[in-house]
Amino acid sequence: MEYLHTIDRDRCKGCGLCVAVCPKNVLEISGKVNTKGYFPAYQARAEDCIFCAMCCTMCPDVAITISEIEQQTAGQK
Ligand code: SF4
Ligand code: SF4
Repeated sequence: MEYLHTIDRDRCKGCGLCVAVCPKNVLEISGKVNTKGYFPAYQARAEDCIFCAMCCTMCPDVAITISEIEQQTAGQK
């Protein structure tokens, strides 16, 4: 099963809780403001993400989602 990790940068308030809680040090705070004037979190090292969902659970603004990716290649290896 593959997963997609998404941060809604315009919902994020840049509190940094997700950055602090991530056990794999995947997340960082961006240097570019979002539409609300906050510096949002982003996946600086997306390849290290283990999709543990701790960041999703921690985020007070529900800005992070992890969703399953539909297998497009059913029947193929
Ligand atoms: S899902 Fe887990 S490993 Fe991935 S960014 Fe969130 S806290 Fe880090
Ligand atoms: S915990 Fe949520 S609001 Fe806070 S920096 Fe992370 S994504 Fe943004």
